[in-house]
This record gives sequence, C-alpha cells and structure tokens, in this order.
Amino acid sequence: MEKKPFVTKEQLDEITKEYKTPFYLYDEKGIRENAKAVKEAFSWNQGFKEFFAVKATPNPFLIQILREYGCGCDCSSLTELMLSDAIGITGEDIMFSSNATPAEEFQFARKINATINLDDITHIEFLEKNGGLPEVISCRYNPGGVFKMSNGIMDNPGDAKYGFTKEQLFEGFRILKEKGVKRFGLHSFLASNTVTNEYYPKLAKILFETAVELKEKLGICLSFINLSGGVGIPYTPDQEPNDIRRIGEEVRKVYEEILTPAGLSDVAIYTEMGRFMMGPYGCLVTKAIHEKHTHKEYIGCDACAVNLMRPAMYGAYHHITVSGKEDAPCDHKYDITGSLCENNDKFAIDRMLPKIDIGDYLIIHDTGAHGFSMGYNYNGKLKSAELLLQEDGTVRMIRRAEEPKDYFATFDFCDILKDMKQQEK
Ligand SMILES: *Cc1c(COP(=O)(O)O)cnc(C)c1O
Repeated sequence: MEKKPFVTKEQLDEITKEYKTPFYLYDEKGIRENAKAVKEAFSWNQGFKEFFAVKATPNPFLIQILREYGCGCDCSSLTELMLSDAIGITGEDIMFSSNATPAEEFQFARKINATINLDDITHIEFLEKNGGLPEVISCRYNPGGVFKMSNGIMDNPGDAKYGFTKEQLFEGFRILKEKGVKRFGLHSFLASNTVTNEYYPKLAKILFETAVELKEKLGICLSFINLSGGVGIPYTPDQEPNDIRRIGEEVRKVYEEILTPAGLSDVAIYTEMGRFMMGPYGCLVTKAIHEKHTHKEYIGCDACAVNLMRPAMYGAYHHITVSGKEDAPCDHKYDITGSLCENNDKFAIDRMLPKIDIGDYLIIHDTGAHGFSMGYNYNGKLKSAELLLQEDGTVRMIRRAEEPKDYFATFDFCDILKDMKQQEK
C-alpha cells in the first residue's frame, strides 16, 4: 500500500512561516477517526476501556482528544501519573502498569487512587508497606516460553523481565484475596508491534482460560482483563494494517466461547494501546540542509536521533516522503542523516528516494508514538516543538521547542553558568 503524508507541501510552506523545522506534526482527524473505531470495535463489552499508554506520546493536548472517546491513561512512572492527574484523569481511569517501581511512585498512585497493576509477587508486600493495598488490584501475567502467530511473527515472553509466572500468579491472587482485596484484574503483554489481527484474540484466549481457572481454584471472579498494548502499525508500505473492528469481533467470539459459559459474563475488557492509537497520526518534519558526496550519497537534515531514536536504537524502518515530490521517481539512493557525532544517527540507509534538493522537507512517517517521547539530549541537541494539524486545517502548537535555557535548567541550583545568564539579559 502506498504511504501518503497527511500534510501537503503547500501546507508545510504555510506552517514553516511560523514554526521552524524540525517539528512533530499530529493529525487530529486521523486520531479521532481511529479512536472512534477502537471504541466501536469493543462496544459489545459493557465495561470496555482503552487506557492510552502515556509513554508513547505524553502530550496532554493529544490525551485530551482521546479522552473524548472514553480513554483513560496507562502510566508507568511518577511524572506520567502527575500528567494524567493534572488534566483531570483520576481514580480508575488511570492504570499504573509499572515495573521495578520506586516506593514513592506506588505511594503517589495510591494517593490518586489509580488502579495498580503489579509486576511481581514481591510487590504485594512492597505495596502494602508503601501506600497500602487497595480494594482493587491487577496482576501482570508472564506465561514464559515463546509466543508464536501463524504468520511467523513471534515474541519471547520467557526472556522478558515483566510479570508473574503462572504459579506466582495463583499464589499472588490467593494472598491478595486473603489480605482483603475485593476486586481483581489480570494483565499481560506478550508481543510488541504485532501487524496481524491474530494477536489480541490469541492473547485473550490465554487470559480468559486463566480467568476460568482462577474462578475454579480460588473462587475469584475477575472484574477486568487487560489485553495491554502491542497492536502494531504498518511501518513499511508493503504491510497490511490491522483491522481493529475484526480484532474486536474476534475477541468477542473468544469471550463468548470461554468466559460466558463459565459464568464470567461481566468481565470488562481493557486495552493499553499506545502505538496503534497515535503512531500513524504523527510525523516528523525536517529540512534537508546539506548534501554530501563521499563514499556514499548523504543528505544531512536538521532533525537527528534526539528527535527520533527508533532507527538508531532498533534499526527501525520509517517511511520517508520528500514533500512535493510524491509522484517523482525514486531513482536516487541516499543515507538520510542527522548531525549527532554518532554514526548510527541515520533516519534511512540506502533508501531510494526522489532527487533531494537543499531546502526540501522530508516527512518521516509513523512517528506519532514512541517518537518524540523517546528523545534525549545527546550532543546538547534540543527537542523540537509538537504541532497539531486541526480538523479545520489550522495548526496549533501543543508543545514548544526546547530552548538552551531548558538544557541548562538543571544547573539552576548554583551560579556556575552565571555568565550565560548575563548574556541572556
Ligand atoms: C509500552 C506499553 C504499552 C503500549 O505499548 P504499544 O506497543 O505502544 O501499544 C502498554 N502497556 C504497557 C504496560 C507498556 O509498557
């Protein structure tokens, strides 16, 4: 399938009059249509809720859009909890799915009454001492082994640091029940970025069967089952996108096959998608500022791995469109690089693209999730602004770009940089 940007060259010419590149641009229309489709796909389940994985795109403006479709937040750190709390998402609309959790984070989660999803059996005692056990709690299950799907996609839960083993899970629920916990949830995340409609239904089967066993062995009727994240997006043009309506329908079938006959027909289904909710609806816009002809052909642009780390970190593919040259032949082979003193700072290697001229805008696709948020500050490079392309075609800034003062802010306890302060004045 051809990948088309959601923004045109003409629009970019307008936007760059006000905002300089690089910047992230998000597509409000796409976000809304997708969030609506997710909601409808699971509308058969009364208690359904998507808890958006905040770490994917921790921007309060974007989370507020998702909120209109009933989404809550899935948090894994103190600042993510604070962000959610600050925009009025509280109590059971927050899922706290963390691991190696510091004591003060459990305490804060308890204070704002977030639902806690425990990562380990030892965390029962740890939470009891740091914040106290709540009335409702969830446990994260890791069945171990290898998780395979029919199209060859697999992941390796046995190697993953997360979750309780099966034995620990049953023991953990027994202890929690004994200690007075009233309502229970079950969570599992077994494969990442699955571009297949098979993942959720297959995961659901494992979790639903475990739920039936929990009822039989411990008399615990789960209140919710959390399918977590992992629903993927097609980063490459040859991949077929997931069909969320079909996924919802397949999960319903498994529900009616396993849970309903076991008398578990009011279990709420939760999800914690990040990538699927936001990934395709964000792009990184950068400008070609240098060309270099040495042993290879290079285009140097004004974004770098600080703005988007996935290619450097995972060798991840991100499709690139040269804005305004959508229909030009891809007859030039380039490495598209950033400016870090680090040779893996390349957005694409040996990529066939139309001839790029200095000043061209490069649109790096599918960066709406785990893009901006993974950024760092190596080489003292600063993070870009985030902009929202609204449904009426206007653009709104939803995060300003970092400035040098932000980079130096952590020296504000002393005056070692006082000369710089004087320069600012
Ligand atoms: C990262 C994460 C998610 C979201 O994963 P996606 O691949 O973006 O859907 C959900 N839940 C937990 C616990 C996570 O760590």
